[in-house]
Amino acid sequence: MTRAPFATHEVLNQSPPFVDVDLYEMDHPLADAVAANGGGPAHNELSEFGRHWGSAAMAERARLANENTPKLRAFDSRGYRRDEVEFHPAYHELMARSAHAGLHNSTWGLDGRPSGGAAEVVRAARFYMAAGVETGHLCPITMTRASVAALAAQPDLLAKVMPVIGTRAYDPSFVPWPAKRGMTLGMGMTEKQGGTDVRSNLTRANRDGDAYRITGHKWFMSAPMCDAFLVLAQADEGLTCFFMPRFLPDGSVNAIEFQRLKDKLGNRSNASSEVEFAGAYATRVGEAGKGIRTIIQMVQLTRQDCAIASAGLMRSGLAHALHHARHRSVFQKHLADQPLMQCVLADMALHVEATVALVMRLCRSFDRATSDQSEAAYMRHLTPAIKYWVCKSAPGFLYEAMECLGGNGYVEEGVLARHYRESPVNAIWEGSGNVMCLDVLRALSREAEAAAAILRGLANETAGLPGAADVVAFIATAFRGPDSERVARMAVEKLALLAAAAALGQVSPGQAELFALTRLAGNHGSMYGAVDLARDDITRLLARALPN
Ligand SMILES: Cc1cc2nc3c(=O)[nH]c(=O)nc-3n(C[C@H](O)[C@H](O)[C@H](O)COP(=O)(O)OP(=O)(O)OC[C@H]3O[C@@H](n4cnc5c(N)ncnc54)[C@H](O)[C@@H]3O)c2cc1C
Repeated sequence: MTRAPFATHEVLNQSPPFVDVDLYEMDHPLADAVAANGGGPAHNELSEFGRHWGSAAMAERARLANENTPKLRAFDSRGYRRDEVEFHPAYHELMARSAHAGLHNSTWGLDGRPSGGAAEVVRAARFYMAAGVETGHLCPITMTRASVAALAAQPDLLAKVMPVIGTRAYDPSFVPWPAKRGMTLGMGMTEKQGGTDVRSNLTRANRDGDAYRITGHKWFMSAPMCDAFLVLAQADEGLTCFFMPRFLPDGSVNAIEFQRLKDKLGNRSNASSEVEFAGAYATRVGEAGKGIRTIIQMVQLTRQDCAIASAGLMRSGLAHALHHARHRSVFQKHLADQPLMQCVLADMALHVEATVALVMRLCRSFDRATSDQSEAAYMRHLTPAIKYWVCKSAPGFLYEAMECLGGNGYVEEGVLARHYRESPVNAIWEGSGNVMCLDVLRALSREAEAAAAILRGLANETAGLPGAADVVAFIATAFRGPDSERVARMAVEKLALLAAAAALGQVSPGQAELFALTRLAGNHGSMYGAVDLARDDITRLLARALPN
């Protein structure tokens, strides 16, 4: 498009918008990781998704949904409670596109059982691409998908909701879920006095015939326009999981009273509420007193999605940085041709290659967990380690990507500022960093044999890679003994790095060698680019990250 010229100057040397691209075709590390983990046959459909989500129209929807944040309408003009949240049409569009692609349900069959095949890997590729465009709306999408795992503890309820969760329609109407074309689910665990320590929940559940009445509060309850929530509350038997719909079976509105919406650093297209339950109607999910055991099935899947989304955010940051560097000239030379910038970008590309390989390897374990015990053990032990490492690396990575764009990276019109503000939340929710480390320790102490087998497997897969043997030896001893908690972050990080090297080895052995040399053998400074990469390696990494 030609634009009217300025009277004072010409606009020169600005990179064109990074839109109308195929997010899949241009991302070789993603396509290779998907193929290596069983998702190769989905290439064409993933490419179609990549073109759609890489369009200028989707980028515009992402901008609008974040600039026009959700509004709480607690009361109507006459003072009656309304308890609705209004979203910009762009948010609804994003929800509809994600639902249409099955991001909220494609890993489940209509009976609520895992779809099998490479459903997790293929969905993860879509989730990864969508996260690089707009992440906030993925909150209800991930919770809906994950809720099925917890609802499995209540088969009669699961059978009723699956026909509605199982459609690819997005239906934002505020009516009872059984009357809808599609539905979303959220979760309420965190209270003012504790989010990690949910045993401290004060919210009470009192029996009311076959159902319960819930009284209390939740301090964070995201996506408040979901059609139902899985909520923890104290029943007589102890902490229990409940299904709390927005409407009672008689069609009246449930006593779910939103107090206000959080004013958040990022994640602004998504609403996160403070809420009170004033005797809200709910039914039990799973055994009374076993609420944590029930809801942890859901949390395991949202943790997986946190890692996928953080990987997608970093990929988007890298692609924008590389695109900019190929168009922006400084001192008569494109930034992408300046040796120092090349090194920074190549080092970042290596991080993303390893991250996407690791995340897809994790998703393969989810695909195979029901039929293969060793894959199930990989899934259980490594989900918290991978969530820890991937999610916690995202803010620093996105800061560096932003800096590659110079001042343009720092302003809100660009996508980098939004990605940067979004990035810390995946490490904080669904189990913060230390909690993930403690989870790894707990899993290791409960299942020492399975843990030893996983470490042996990783040792075999990384045999011969620089630094791998020392890392294996460190991990083997660090998790033992009374002091393991003190060194847990160090050990969990090394475990994730080792798993990343192993996963990358199955996708691209040359990159695995480089990753191990720079990350396992300790040959890396504290910043991206503070590393000695050979020219050929730099060229290869950058060509794979974004073909010219
Ligand atoms: C945007 C947003 C949306 C959210 N949406 C939801 C939602 O929909 N539903 C919901 O239930 N919750 C939600 N949460 C809440 C979130 O899950 C909690 O904030 C999180 O679990 C941490 O709990 P907390 O805030 O109470 O912090 P705390 O539990 O007080 O933890 C504070 C810090 O202490 C660390 N820590 C905890 N225990 C230990 C230990 N034993 N040793 C060492 N360190 C420890 C943690 O890692 C953390 O860094 C949301 C949060 C955010 C930011």
